[in-house]
Amino acid sequence: MPEIEDQGSMPKIERLYLDFDSFFASAEQHFNAELRGRPLGVVPLDSPHSSCIAVSREAKARGVKTGASIQAARRILPDMIFVIARHDAYVRLHKRILDVVGSILPVANVRSIDEVACHLSPSEAREGKALSDRIKAALAQAFSPALTCSIGMAPTELLAKVGAEMNKPDGFALIAAQDLPAALSKLELRDLPGISKGIGARLAAAGVHDIEGLWRLAPKQARRIWGNVEGERFWSEFHGVHAERPDTKKSMYGHGRVLPRDGRAPQQVEACARQLLLSAARRLRRDGLRATELSLGFRSGRGSDEAQWTWRESFAAARDDRTFTRALSKALAEARRGLKFSPHAVSVTLQGLASDSELTGDLFAGSLDDGADEATRKTWEKVSDVMDSLRRLHGAKALSLGVQDEIPGGYVGAKIAFGRIPDEADFSEAPTRDEDTRFLSGQPPGAL
Ligand SMILES: [Mg+2]
Repeated sequence: MPEIEDQGSMPKIERLYLDFDSFFASAEQHFNAELRGRPLGVVPLDSPHSSCIAVSREAKARGVKTGASIQAARRILPDMIFVIARHDAYVRLHKRILDVVGSILPVANVRSIDEVACHLSPSEAREGKALSDRIKAALAQAFSPALTCSIGMAPTELLAKVGAEMNKPDGFALIAAQDLPAALSKLELRDLPGISKGIGARLAAAGVHDIEGLWRLAPKQARRIWGNVEGERFWSEFHGVHAERPDTKKSMYGHGRVLPRDGRAPQQVEACARQLLLSAARRLRRDGLRATELSLGFRSGRGSDEAQWTWRESFAAARDDRTFTRALSKALAEARRGLKFSPHAVSVTLQGLASDSELTGDLFAGSLDDGADEATRKTWEKVSDVMDSLRRLHGAKALSLGVQDEIPGGYVGAKIAFGRIPDEADFSEAPTRDEDTRFLSGQPPGAL
């Protein structure tokens, strides 16, 4: 690891990080001018027990935090307005945003629905704040004042991301190597991306409580504290040296769903698991892969006493709905026997992935669990493919094996989560129009 202080020249500004402010809430305010300037919360479900996945800057300024329940937010702001998330509209907006940012500066990496990283040439870096202003002006012209972003520029992506967080909303910060670590001295360790609660605790145990202490660590110490090479990567990026990360290969297709209170009866839970599975299976097939394992998971409510239950079913490498639904039926039968709590959330994952070209004889071998032969399996694969193409032609709800159930919360398998941005093809519901704000039922009269 090079000692950067001894290199004679400091790391240069080479990255720009752009992060939208309160993205889902700003998107709704952008789509519906009446919501601009108002405290607004975006909730996933049309239920009075829902919690905000985003709150507008007006709500944040008056003390409502992301994650607040509707009740808690109303106690602080009785006039707060709640709308239901429309993931398809946000994905469309995300794509338009990429085009506008890309017209000023090539986007190197899309990091989430509202965050992108760009690489800077020396001349772009020299522009400094003027470059950020140009991007913001292009966005303001293409969209509306409701949709603002914060921008950081720095030698590395990690530092640029920190810069984007520092002066929100509509912020800008340039973090130069020669100003480190003083430029970060106002931050808590947990403000840094990559310092989770767990890493924070390990740092504290190692006597590191602030930015200064973190800065003084040697790369090897960081590696020891993190327990893996991520520690050294973090050290590099933190000190202004790029840490290249091998591309992570997709290892699973999964969907999870929090169940509303009125959607937790066993039959509803099983129907939900089934819809989540079929959606994951379609994505798997679209990417030309097979899976060898299905995992079904249930979680009770949130908090420290949260209970979890997981069951895994293995099978010969498969890509057809019949194999997957049979594995799910077995897992559900196990759940009926062994599950000791009422589930509040369900997840279904297809894993142990392989493409046809990677498959060895072993993975292909093994007859179907019910003794059906190779020809039968091929038939069912063809059936699944035909159904996928019919869905593409006639809409995702056109048909599926067996009964099609509506599942609580809608947007099967097409939520924006864990950094995954769904494709428009993932949405099985009819698209909402941008301006079709979905208000939470039962808002106080005159709220709008
Ligand atoms: Mg953001």
